[in-house]
Parts: sequence; C-alpha cells; structure tokens
Amino acid sequence: MPAKELSPIDVYKLLPRTNCKKCGEPNCMSFAAKLVAREATLQQCPVLLEEKYRPQFEKLWDLLKPPVRGVEVGVGDRKVVIGGEYVVHRHEFTYFHPTAIAIDVSDEMEEGVLVERVEKTSNFCYEYIGMKLYLDMIAVRSSSNDPRRFEWAVKKTAETTDLPLILCSLNPSVMEQGLAVVGERRPLIYAATRDNWGEMADLALMYKCPLVVSAPNDVKLLRSLTTTLLKYGVEDLVLDPGTYADEGLADTLDNFTMLRLSAIREGDEALGFPLLGAPIVAWSRREEDPTLNEWKESYLASMLIVRYADLLIMHTLSGWALLPVVILRQNIYTDPRKPVSVEPGVRTFGEPDEWSPVMFTTNFALTYYTVASDVQSAKADAYLLVVDSEGISVESAIAGRKLTADTVAEAVRNFKVGDLVKHRLLIIPGRAARISGEIEDLTGWRVLVGPIDSSGIGKFLGTKWKEEISKIKGSGE
Ligand code: SF4
Repeated sequence: MPAKELSPIDVYKLLPRTNCKKCGEPNCMSFAAKLVAREATLQQCPVLLEEKYRPQFEKLWDLLKPPVRGVEVGVGDRKVVIGGEYVVHRHEFTYFHPTAIAIDVSDEMEEGVLVERVEKTSNFCYEYIGMKLYLDMIAVRSSSNDPRRFEWAVKKTAETTDLPLILCSLNPSVMEQGLAVVGERRPLIYAATRDNWGEMADLALMYKCPLVVSAPNDVKLLRSLTTTLLKYGVEDLVLDPGTYADEGLADTLDNFTMLRLSAIREGDEALGFPLLGAPIVAWSRREEDPTLNEWKESYLASMLIVRYADLLIMHTLSGWALLPVVILRQNIYTDPRKPVSVEPGVRTFGEPDEWSPVMFTTNFALTYYTVASDVQSAKADAYLLVVDSEGISVESAIAGRKLTADTVAEAVRNFKVGDLVKHRLLIIPGRAARISGEIEDLTGWRVLVGPIDSSGIGKFLGTKWKEEISKIKGSGE
C-alpha cells in the first residue's frame, strides 16, 4: 500500500492497544499516527517486541517498509543510508534520504594527488540557508586491475578519511584485496555483473557488505540478476542501470524512471533498491578544455538527482560544478511537510544602539538568510525582528494569514523590541505594505515601508531611514 494511502487506523489495528505509554506517546493511536508519518519506528513499542506479538510485528513491518529498500553504507557517525523511499514525487509524502555523492580516486593516481582529493572531499562544506552541505563518500577505482595496487589505494584512502567507501572493480580478485583492508567498514561493492555475480555475491556475503548490480541499459538483465542474487541470500543491493552522456542521456533517464516507477507504483520487489548514477562518465572523452567535462558532469548529476538517483559517483572537485548539485539536492530533499524555518526572535547586526534601525522579516529560512546577508553587506548596525510566519515567505504568509498585524505586534511585544531603542520607527518589508496601517494601529510604532527587494536595504538605510531618524533626533521626539 502506498505510504500516502496508509491510515493510522490500519496500523492501530495491529498494535497491542494497551495504551501503556511505554513508547512515550499517550496512547496506541497516537503512536500509530507517528508510524504512518515515519516519525517513529516499530522498535519503539517494547510491547510489540514480545514473542506473542511477533505475527503483528511482521505484518506491520511489511505494511510500513519502504518499496525502495534503505541500504546502509559505512559504519559509525558518517554512515550513509541510500534509498529507503516511499514515493515517486516528493510532494506525495516526502523523500527521506538525500542522494549521496561520492568523489572518485583511482589506484593509478600518485599518492599526493589521491590524498589531496580524499581530503578535499572530506572537508567539503558549503553553508546554505543555515544548513551545512557535504559530500558523502569516496569511490576507490581500480583502473590498474592490479590487486596490490588497489590494496594500496584503499588503505591510503581509509587512513585519510572516515567517509564511507565504494570499492570499484569488476575483477573479484582485485575486490577481495580491497575488502581484506576495509571489509569491516561496510563499503559498497561495485559491481556484480552477468559475468562475475557469483564471486561478487560470495564476497558480499562473506564481508556483510552491500553490493551494486550492474547491467548497463538492460533493465531485463538487471531484474534477472537481482532476482538471482536475492535467492542467493544477498539482500542489500543497489542498482546500476548505466549512465550515458550525450546521445545516451534519454535512455539513461528513461531507465532510472522506469525502475523507480516499477518499484513504487507496481511494487516490483526485484527492482525495489536504490539507484546508482555515474555522472563521472562525462569524463570518458576528455575535452580540450576540462571545464566542458565538468559542466557536462554537473548537469548530468542534476538530471539524475531529479530522476531518482540515490547515489552518484562524480569526479570533479570544482566548487562551481558541485555547488549547484548540492544545492539542488538540498532543495529536493527538504521535507515539504515542514517549511525550512529559523527561530523567531531579534537578531543584531554590527553594533546597534538605541537609535539604530529596527526591521522585520519572516522566519522562512531562505527569506531570513537573504535579508540577513543584505543587512550584512550594507554594513548596517541594526536590529532584525524575525516574526514567526510558520516558515513561510512574506508575500505568501500575508496571503495565507500567517503574517498579520497581530503576529507582528505580538512579536514586538514578546521580544521586547521597545526596550532596545528610543525611537518607535519600524521598517517593514515592501511586500508587507498592505498591512502597514494595521501594524501602526496595533503596535503604536510608526511604519516605514522598506524596499520590495532586500537588496535595496543599504540604499534605504542611507536615505529614507537617515532622513527620518535625523528628524526625530532633531525634534527630541
Ligand atoms: S508502547 Fe506500544 S502498546 Fe504501549 S502505548 Fe505505545 S504503542 Fe501502545
């Protein structure tokens, strides 16, 4: 049953219904609602873990498990879960596990180059509207096909980072050498194919590691291989339907889409696994200007993120090529049920005093960080009142009555804004102009309507604000 159609009643019927509160919820129905929203796990109900409830537990497990299996790669704090999704489109429910991004190193790289790439990947961090965006894994490729060389590269990489690893070789002897070094770190094995699946399956079972199944542009073969591997006992699988740039792009996107629809809409369990994309193929033909390879890799990665890839292997480490990709990923994987918001309250910029400007904005994260950045760029000493609009931007919040003169007046009162300054001038966003009169009535503050776009704040403070505050100071008001 699709996640969005599952009701708390369906789940409640299978719970112990003792209302014992051991799960931290007031009753079983409330726990059922949390299970349906995927905000709790079955293991949080200790009663359900008792032997006599085993049949109910198993039924609930089947009911609640995602149609795309969640596969863990790595161990400890940096462990990454890929897949584990319930819906095709995020607005149908939400996505849970952002597409993981791995950067490659090869066993033919010089030591300095390899270590530098691993360190850059591990230290990559970009701050975006209050969130830190990271890269997630390192893919160690055996381009030499030499087991000793691969062992060296895997060892060097593992010594340099605690990020999860993907070991890439189609040669089982090479793979075995790499697993001997890092098997206990649960790397992802890339890959089982039509030719080597038996040996790779044995390695996956021996080291208890997840396994990629690769069948480029052949969904039928992919399905046949996963069916065989499942029967063989390997359950943590990842699907690689092949990634092609240029003229193969349409096939690539078709295959990714077909696989995800088959898993979720048709409930095909043999295809219900995370999908691996390889934008790194953009480097298979070196352009005269490598910028072109990076550009191609970046757009390929973006397309695969919106077409259900759960894991990407990339080569570029250029900020300009990676930033659009990690930002796109962040935007797609935010929970549409919960707007991205910041804490309401008063923020100070520079060293404001009792004659400094007071502005307000809403607590929608993107709005807040845009305004904050513009106030900082203006080098203003100012107060910024962040009003709770339930994480919605100014214009939408006004239209939806989440931002009203009442909520503004309440914020002014609750956060004691009047104690911060001697004047009673409140700069409001240009897009809130229509509630300016009501704000004046309810707060007793005089309103100055600020710019429509916060990029105009600097100019506004240097002209209109300066003029008004000078008049007040001059009049001794
Ligand atoms: S612990 Fe289990 S049985 Fe007790 S209230 Fe929670 S869901 Fe119900």
